[in-house]
Amino acid sequence: MNRRHFLHASAIAASLGLLSRGRLFSQVSQTTSAPAPLPPAPAPLPDGFVTLRRNVGIFNGRGGTIGWLASPDALAVVDTQFPDTAAKCLAGIPLRGDRRIDVLINTHHHGDHTAGNPVFRPVVDKIVAHKNVPGLQRAAAARGNPSAPDRQVYADTTFADTWKLELGGTRAGAETIHARHLGPAHTGGDIIVFFEKANVVHMGDLVFNRVYPVIDRGGGASVTNWITVLETAAKTYPADAIYVFGHAGAASRFGVVGKRDDLLVMRDYLTGLLDHVRRQIAAGKTRGEIATLENLPGFPDYHMPRPNRLTANLGVAYDELTNAKT
Ligand SMILES: [Zn+2]
Repeated sequence: MNRRHFLHASAIAASLGLLSRGRLFSQVSQTTSAPAPLPPAPAPLPDGFVTLRRNVGIFNGRGGTIGWLASPDALAVVDTQFPDTAAKCLAGIPLRGDRRIDVLINTHHHGDHTAGNPVFRPVVDKIVAHKNVPGLQRAAAARGNPSAPDRQVYADTTFADTWKLELGGTRAGAETIHARHLGPAHTGGDIIVFFEKANVVHMGDLVFNRVYPVIDRGGGASVTNWITVLETAAKTYPADAIYVFGHAGAASRFGVVGKRDDLLVMRDYLTGLLDHVRRQIAAGKTRGEIATLENLPGFPDYHMPRPNRLTANLGVAYDELTNAKT
């Protein structure tokens, strides 16, 4: 979490504290003439937790940003990072106590979003992901360590295009969660998760906010379709939706929470990447010659000294464009 988000979170917590004290005080003053003692201030959220809007927030430890929904009537988690940070997240989810979690959703198969699944499995009713995710997760684990696929925890509920879950019925803490897959992008199994009442959208790794992204061609990525996915997402959700991103630049002034325009910045980066590589191919450059650029001109917010991921991005873009020709 960067400083901007810490300050934002502190402001939200402060306003909630004032509201709850005011409400309690008015209830007490109606029933007794004795001076009401000040109720204790609400417990601050544990380290790494930030509330965004209406029972929905994020947790950041290490890896892809975790989203959470926590109300008296519904509990949900989006992505699980790694076992150590998953344990911290599980211990700190607001209002949980010993309640089970209604649903865990994996935005895609990458280890920094699913390696904490074993920590959550005993306390979640179901794990949801796109239908390509278990296979991609199994293959990625096998590439890293042939015995690792058996130690993965996979989704038990998968879908092809859209998925929806209503939690909490007509109670005050109810929420409706939607997920949709718009084709290959960062991987071959990305989904977007929308908390309808909170109006919060978790983009998984479909947005790396102002930092060169991972483009997992071996895991089914498509830069060309990723551009379309971001344009579709920007048109799909309400204009004032709060967006959660898997990653942001560590040194950047941009964080893992943002708005619709940030999707279009990511779209422009991917478009600029393909355009640059297309021009280089047309000029007769080889893959090796193309994949040497330190930073992509025109995108200063992404710039950082080597080592950075631009070299890999250029290589993937080259492979995608040249395969498209054959
Ligand atoms: Zn990823």
